[in-house]
Amino acid sequence: MTDAARLTAPFGWEQHCCLPLKADCDIAPLDRYRQVGVDYVSVNVGFGPHGIEQTMRVLSSWRRQVLRAPDSFQLVGSPDDLTAAQQAGRLVVAFDLEDTNPLGGEVAMVQTYYDLGVRSMLFTYNGENLAGFGCHAARDDGLTAFGRDVLAEMNRVGMMVDVSHCGYRTSMDAIERSSAPVIFSHSAMRGVWEHDRNIRDDQVRACAATGGVIGINGVGIFLGDNDASPGAMARHIDYAVQLAGPEHVGIGTDFVFDNDDLSQELSNTELFPAAYRQWDSYQFLPPEQLPAVEAELAGLGYPAGDIAAIMGGNFLRVAKAVWKAAA
Ligand SMILES: [Zn+2]
Repeated sequence: MTDAARLTAPFGWEQHCCLPLKADCDIAPLDRYRQVGVDYVSVNVGFGPHGIEQTMRVLSSWRRQVLRAPDSFQLVGSPDDLTAAQQAGRLVVAFDLEDTNPLGGEVAMVQTYYDLGVRSMLFTYNGENLAGFGCHAARDDGLTAFGRDVLAEMNRVGMMVDVSHCGYRTSMDAIERSSAPVIFSHSAMRGVWEHDRNIRDDQVRACAATGGVIGINGVGIFLGDNDASPGAMARHIDYAVQLAGPEHVGIGTDFVFDNDDLSQELSNTELFPAAYRQWDSYQFLPPEQLPAVEAELAGLGYPAGDIAAIMGGNFLRVAKAVWKAAA
């Protein structure tokens, strides 16, 4: 294989990607991010259908795999570790949760997951749960009492509050109540492409007002007509930048490593409305295309400093502001 293009940004940050949520899944493909110059990756370890046991099985296995590959990977720790890992040529691996169901109804699990490397969590994945309402739920009454307790605990512990996949009111409720910057880990712009999963202009502005970052995803059906090209992603990035400024936009591609696994998940009619099943396969922007996204932004006239902020500097800033030392 010839050398692939690498990012020019000084610190590359991928806020969300997906491996099959199984304990026996081989996480070695995460190295594709390291190969293109990404320094930090967060991979999902649990979502709506999962409780404590399933999530812990995945976390335990994947943590062990990270620890056994010290030449390539480093388990997430404090913000200070990030630069050291980069200098050692290691990819920092962190975990995220796409729902609060993995808490099993226990607020105390927030600290436990944080201590194990979970650095962000969103309240509800598309549907309704104990904490709030998702973007495809029939209604949205905002955060529940449990959701508010979880939010307060996340703020206390230092876990990033994520509102991707949440309904409009649930997301705005969390943004209003959070004492720390809030992120949309992987969302696209409804002002560019109409989809219930995409977020409105006022959500973008409200997130930015907390000091947070909107991670733009690289999912074809959210960016356009199943178009996951670097140009399509850059259009959503540019739209968000026009609304919120270059210091509040980042990358959370939602790259799915295993398309067969995704097809199985999409058959869940409770989590995914019928519209999700109209495509034979989904297009995703792969890690190897991230340098092309940088090139698209440069083509739009973005200065190097803004590109660096979007490709990693902004999420790095939020991490430094939010994460706290493990208990
Ligand atoms: Zn997602």
